[in-house]
Amino acid sequence: MDLAEAQAMPREGMDYDVVIVGAGPAGLSAAIRLKQLNPDLGVVVVEKGSEVGAHILSGAVIDPIGLDRLIPDWREDPDAPLKTPVTDDRFYVLGPAGGVRLPNALMPGLMSNHGAYIASLGNVARWLGARAEALGVEIYPGFAAAEVLYGDNGEVVGVATGDMGVSKTGDVKDGFTRGMELRGKYVLFGEGARGSLSKQLIKRFALDADREPQKFGIGLKELWQVAPEKHRPGLVQHSFGWPLDMKTGGGSFLYHFEDNLVAVGFVVHLNYENPTLSPFDEFQRFKQHPLVRDTFVGGKRISYGARAITEGGWQSVPKLSFPGGALIGCAAGFVNVPRIKGSHNAVLSGMLCAEHVVAALAEGRANDELRSYEDAWRESAIGKDLKRVRNVKPLWSKFGTAVGVALGGLDMWTNQLFGGSFFGTLKHGKPDYASLKRIDQVKPITYPKPDGVVSFDKLSSVFLSATNHEEDQPSHLRLTDPSIPVDRNLPLYGEPARLYCPAGVYEVVYADPEARTDPRFVINAQNCVHCKTCDIKDPSQNITWVTPEGGGGPNYPNM
Ligand SMILES: Cc1cc2nc3c(=O)[nH]c(=O)nc-3n(C[C@H](O)[C@H](O)[C@H](O)COP(=O)(O)OP(=O)(O)OC[C@H]3O[C@@H](n4cnc5c(N)ncnc54)[C@H](O)[C@@H]3O)c2cc1C
Ligand code: SF4
Repeated sequence: MDLAEAQAMPREGMDYDVVIVGAGPAGLSAAIRLKQLNPDLGVVVVEKGSEVGAHILSGAVIDPIGLDRLIPDWREDPDAPLKTPVTDDRFYVLGPAGGVRLPNALMPGLMSNHGAYIASLGNVARWLGARAEALGVEIYPGFAAAEVLYGDNGEVVGVATGDMGVSKTGDVKDGFTRGMELRGKYVLFGEGARGSLSKQLIKRFALDADREPQKFGIGLKELWQVAPEKHRPGLVQHSFGWPLDMKTGGGSFLYHFEDNLVAVGFVVHLNYENPTLSPFDEFQRFKQHPLVRDTFVGGKRISYGARAITEGGWQSVPKLSFPGGALIGCAAGFVNVPRIKGSHNAVLSGMLCAEHVVAALAEGRANDELRSYEDAWRESAIGKDLKRVRNVKPLWSKFGTAVGVALGGLDMWTNQLFGGSFFGTLKHGKPDYASLKRIDQVKPITYPKPDGVVSFDKLSSVFLSATNHEEDQPSHLRLTDPSIPVDRNLPLYGEPARLYCPAGVYEVVYADPEARTDPRFVINAQNCVHCKTCDIKDPSQNITWVTPEGGGGPNYPNM
């Protein structure tokens, strides 16, 4: 049987009231809220990770505002994985040899982490998954939603999971299985930052018309078990400045929580200009800073991973509703950038959407537009959270770190004190893929070699993400034009995919490496940690990330 024949075979289907794509905080909160409001609803969640939480990577300092509303007695649940309240909150501006701590009194109130918890968001998802299943939600991990299903009038009526058993070359393998159709009266997309189906929906329904472009960062993270004498449970430390230059946005986080664990990470804003910048190497360099290094000496690195984070905020959130479904969580982009927090808004948006779905179903509606959800979010707690910080990212992008962060701080103060901003609502300008300068216009960045003590190379890092893909399957990293990496990206930008990919997926290899002859672009798709950075940052917008076979990807234990 050839592939066309195999793909013409009918798919099995199942019908639900609500289909949810993605078992992250947004998707699971929506599922829980739906069942809380109407236990008779049929609700299904599909998750591409091998288990719930396997693909979730976050900081995470969690503002419990969402959980307090979703599960008001969660603190009495011994299984709730939020055990470490924040007790010490520090902000530093770093230079190469030292740093200045910003007095907490200078920080606007909204930046305080008082009342928040340090936890693994993956473990929060695992716990929410169990709570959802206890309410009767069906969760299918290991199944990626690969295709949106449309009805006769163009409305969304479901999703199909991907086929299994197609070879790298597109041949049908033994054991080929057609995907499943999951049809629902409403379909909610909680795929997180740069969701692959959400991206298609945003385009198809022009959900981003009249909005600013979405902005992103890449966040890299490691989990360490540190020596007990270096462990300060409850300490939350953020920095900006070194090792990034003053034109490049980003910063670090370092959170001490239970069991001598320290989550350390680094975010680089994806509107960086220098194509020779490597976010991975900036992160490794950051850990060498004198204020930071000692925490890790004598400790053990347990896990590594990376994930895109949305940064556009208030002015970039697309329209959330379209016929038959809605975007929830970071698929829409609800991160509060200066707080580096989005999980609370993911929970709140899942809940808010669920409430509008239940009301619509109660009226006997199906597969129409949940316009009231779109109309409600800007006045909700999510809108209030995002509106007051809406100018921080554009100011940072426009004026650089020194001036931009100071202006952003001032703007947050004026929002806090006077409920408004002198700047109105600033624009973000260019999308992130359009910000790179040509390689002949920049000073190349060189990075120190890893010391094997606190800094490491990419391959040994990817090993710690426990990433696994069936090797004999079509690449899930699709090039629209296969000639572009070598013919355009290489001469103009040095092919930046080699550097921005945190998993070493992209390489340029030469027939004669010395003479640099016959360059060839190689994609090691099996290493991909599903961060989505290539889909965002490729200057030619030539790479499309699609779902690989379900279950493939990282297997983060507790990120
Ligand atoms: C480095 C970093 C640090 C952060 N720090 C913090 C912090 O300290 N505090 C905080 O509150 N927030 C933080 N955030 C933001 C926070 O992680 C997000 O706001 C939050 O994860 C969004 O939740 P979500 O449910 O929308 O998406 P996600 O958490 O990304 O979950 C989406 C889920 O959908 C699945 N999925 C995606 N596509 C498909 C598909 N097609 N089929 C099936 N399944 C699919 C994914 O595998 C995943 O499990 C951080 C983010 C990053 C990257
Ligand atoms: S291939 Fe793309 S999505 Fe995968 S790890 Fe690299 S940059 Fe991230």
